[in-house]
Amino acid sequence: MAPSSVTGAHIIARTLKDLGVTVIFGIVGVPVSDIAEQAINLGIRFIGFRNEQAASYAATAYGYLTGKPGVCLVVGGPGVLHAIAGVGNATENNFPLLLLGGSIETHMVTKGAFQELDSVSLLTPQTKLSIRPPNATMLPNLIANAYRCAFYGRPGTGFVDLPADIIMNPIAIEDVDRTPKVSNPPRGAANKAQLAKIAALIKGAQAPLVLIGKGAAYARAETAIRDLIDRANIPFLPSPMGKGVLPDSHPQNVSSARSAALKMADVVLILGARLNWIFHHGEAPKWNLDAKFIQVDISPEELGRNAADADLAILGDVNIVVPQLMELLGSWSFASTSSPYISRLDAAKQKNEAVAAKAAAYRSIPLSYAHAFAIIKEALHELSPPEDGGIVYVAEGANTMDISRSIFPLEHPRLRLDAGTYATMGIGLPYAIAAWEAYNGPNAQASSGPARRKKIVAIEGDSAFGFSGMEIETMARFGMDVLIFVINNGGIYFGDSNTKNDWETKQERTRKGEPGLRSWALGWEVRYDKMAEAVGGKGYFVRTPEELYNAAAEGYEASGPVIVNVVIQSGKGEQKANFGWQVAPAKKHAR
Ligand code: ADP
Ligand code: MG
Repeated sequence: MAPSSVTGAHIIARTLKDLGVTVIFGIVGVPVSDIAEQAINLGIRFIGFRNEQAASYAATAYGYLTGKPGVCLVVGGPGVLHAIAGVGNATENNFPLLLLGGSIETHMVTKGAFQELDSVSLLTPQTKLSIRPPNATMLPNLIANAYRCAFYGRPGTGFVDLPADIIMNPIAIEDVDRTPKVSNPPRGAANKAQLAKIAALIKGAQAPLVLIGKGAAYARAETAIRDLIDRANIPFLPSPMGKGVLPDSHPQNVSSARSAALKMADVVLILGARLNWIFHHGEAPKWNLDAKFIQVDISPEELGRNAADADLAILGDVNIVVPQLMELLGSWSFASTSSPYISRLDAAKQKNEAVAAKAAAYRSIPLSYAHAFAIIKEALHELSPPEDGGIVYVAEGANTMDISRSIFPLEHPRLRLDAGTYATMGIGLPYAIAAWEAYNGPNAQASSGPARRKKIVAIEGDSAFGFSGMEIETMARFGMDVLIFVINNGGIYFGDSNTKNDWETKQERTRKGEPGLRSWALGWEVRYDKMAEAVGGKGYFVRTPEELYNAAAEGYEASGPVIVNVVIQSGKGEQKANFGWQVAPAKKHAR
């Protein structure tokens, strides 16, 4: 190749570098490996995964944590198909993702080529922009455009299909476009007249409530929202990932009186959240039938959905609209002292917190969920108190995720990643990798709270863990000190069996071709901890409170990945009744 010529692979890597990309998540094959190699040569990290699904999930979480598109590079055909899991996840959670997929040479189209797939047609309805560059000259322009689309407006996916000949063939340097500058997304403000109407509505409320969603966390609106709540004295309720935008310890946090708050609220200000299943669509009987919803959202299509009334909505960025609204509210604050709403919320909080304390105090071996989490919390808090914001929690599984959410308090934003709006299982290990990279990596771009370095703690159901369990090797390869708890009840949801005997009997019947193991069953006391040992990390198999406490404390200090395999009660039991008041419903199809 003459020195004045470059390959498409080089141009692609150069464009990513120009856009400020510092890490790529993916899996290579020929010829996209050329792109990864060139990127590494330019100082970009390439984190190679074991399955494209996991790589694409990691890129979406990295996008959420950094506020810029996470980049995922995969081979064509099956690679792109697997990465569609991340595309769905990005769309449903509004996370910014730039997906780069290889594809066959342009002249091979329809010839039955190796890993042939018409990715652009497939992905067009699933993405904000799907494009195949007609030549290498245009690569910088088109990649920059896909990158821009991914995080301008409501975040989602930009996809670029990269034919093998465009990746590999040399072209003259002077024929290549320059990379256009992509600034941070412009942010919209509220319409003033609309805002005045809304301020009046809030001032007249008998039972106001603020919902804080992950859009507010993504907007980095913590300071603005804190000022609003402190000044206006309005109770607030975070969504699962809106948790931590305001400290859980804030007196206006009504998370533990969730049902009562939904039922009573008459004016609801929604900051970066949606009235979807997580908030019961805003509908009765969970909500007051006459409740008025004020949505603040960057997406016009979101406004007026379900129980919301678009006449009361504000199109704009939370971080800009909230201070605007505060100006109009002036010194007004919600008079809580004589409010029956507040006394009902206080009573509900007390009652529910007593139920939670009772659940955590419930003693048994095998452990219950609540008891296991209480021990983990005790061990972790001694090493890193919540005020420091030194721990990022990743959680997935049905009960594991739902029950753990209320047990581990957060005092700072963007420190909890869970299965999100899509209830996506398999995100646990990839999100932990993304969080490690975003907070601790050599080009760390995320921040929250005083602690600079974060311990990444993944709390995994045994079923959920299985979806991306092999990524433990990815963590070990990159020296990521992630502490993983597998909450092992031998099954999906509550599992299938109560005892080893019962499980073995069912397994025997299954072998004989009789109805035996039910669909919820997984292996009994599987040694997931050995997977950490297999890759050079540490594994603990624990049953008792002492073993769990010691493993958590020791595992926290380890320098590589750790799996603490926690055997807990299997089968429906006493535990179930204790969590009726929990946040976000554990859907039957979740794990
Ligand atoms: P949660 O699951 O926490 O309720 P959702 O993902 O359902 O959160 O909703 C987040 C909402 O926040 C989306 O409708 C999205 O359009 C919106 N959003 C994202 N960023 C911003 C922003 N900067 N300002 C306002 N709204 C935002
Ligand atoms: Mg399980």
